Amino acid sequence: MTSPLTHTGGCQCGAVRFRMEGQPKDVSVCHCRMCQKAFGAYYAPLVAVGEAQVTFTRGAPKRFASSNFVKRGFCGDCGTPLSYEAPDGLSLAAGAFDDPSQLPPTIQFGVECKLAFVDAISTLPERATLDDLQDAPFLTEVVSYQHPDRDTEQWPEAKS
Ligand SMILES: [Zn+2]
Ligand SMILES: [Zn+2]
Repeated sequence: MTSPLTHTGGCQCGAVRFRMEGQPKDVSVCHCRMCQKAFGAYYAPLVAVGEAQVTFTRGAPKRFASSNFVKRGFCGDCGTPLSYEAPDGLSLAAGAFDDPSQLPPTIQFGVECKLAFVDAISTLPERATLDDLQDAPFLTEVVSYQHPDRDTEQWPEAKS
């Protein structure tokens, strides 16, 4: 059904879903200021689609033209950043894929804007989510409204 070269993904609320078939050109993180802002993050993880085929299987991103050349796609319902569309091709937000571990980055772009502390993040103290129960007791009762990491026939799924 799905080959190892098929990768699915979508936004947090499930209104937009996509499928990429084929080998992408590359997977990167971009440190440029525009990517920082568009993702609300220190850098943007991006899968450059290249010759692979992308189909939006549910909904479609809204787009913001961040420059005269580039449009950035995001879910109009939940705001998840989804795409970067430039004259040299389409990229999809790597973290929006259902299994980002299958698409590890191999190159960094925009390094002139890299925030000085980024390389030290892996040296920071580490805590697991449930290590913080004392400060955030609600964590044991969280009910996720996030779309699951797989395609669904309908969403929200019918209650049985
Ligand atoms: Zn959404
Ligand atoms: Zn960038």
